[in-house]
Amino acid sequence: MEEEVISAAFVSGEWKDKQWQKKAADRYKQYARFLQRPEKKKILKQLPELHDEAFSHIDCLNCAACCKNYSPRFKTPDIKRISKHLKLKESVFIDTYLRLDEDGDYVVKQTPCPFLGTDNRCSIYNIRPSDCARFPYTDEDVLINRAGITLKNSSFCPAVFYVMERLLALK
Ligand code: SF4
Ligand code: SF4
Repeated sequence: MEEEVISAAFVSGEWKDKQWQKKAADRYKQYARFLQRPEKKKILKQLPELHDEAFSHIDCLNCAACCKNYSPRFKTPDIKRISKHLKLKESVFIDTYLRLDEDGDYVVKQTPCPFLGTDNRCSIYNIRPSDCARFPYTDEDVLINRAGITLKNSSFCPAVFYVMERLLALK
């Protein structure tokens, strides 16, 4: 029943109008409580199906909130792979696109990400940073092990909101 309610909203496009964000904000404390003492094994088993279910309703090309507002970390292998693809020296790639953040990680100089097109497509999709490929962690243990990250992501990523709502309904 709960799945039908969430699905209906997402299929009807409610999530595109960001109405879900108000609900996510209202549910913040519930999500936080749930993530404090999750039944990890049980949840991990459920995640692959919930992840697929979320992305059967949500098209990232209609969203791109992550790429528009936040930066992935560009780790050394990411920098090597992407600069090679762009036929740039690594130092030139870094100087052109990246800066060091307060944690000492390379991130984009400014958002939206310079590799995001106006059609919300990533121009380096096949070789994008590992953080981008893994985001929003809805099919991995980061979702329950890094509660702070999940709570932040639930405020802007509809897929995280969707999975958290389903987990609360299933518990
Ligand atoms: S991962 Fe989440 S925030 Fe990023 S584009 Fe997809 S739905 Fe939007
Ligand atoms: S590299 Fe691509 S997927 Fe990653 S933030 Fe930039 S546009 Fe988005």
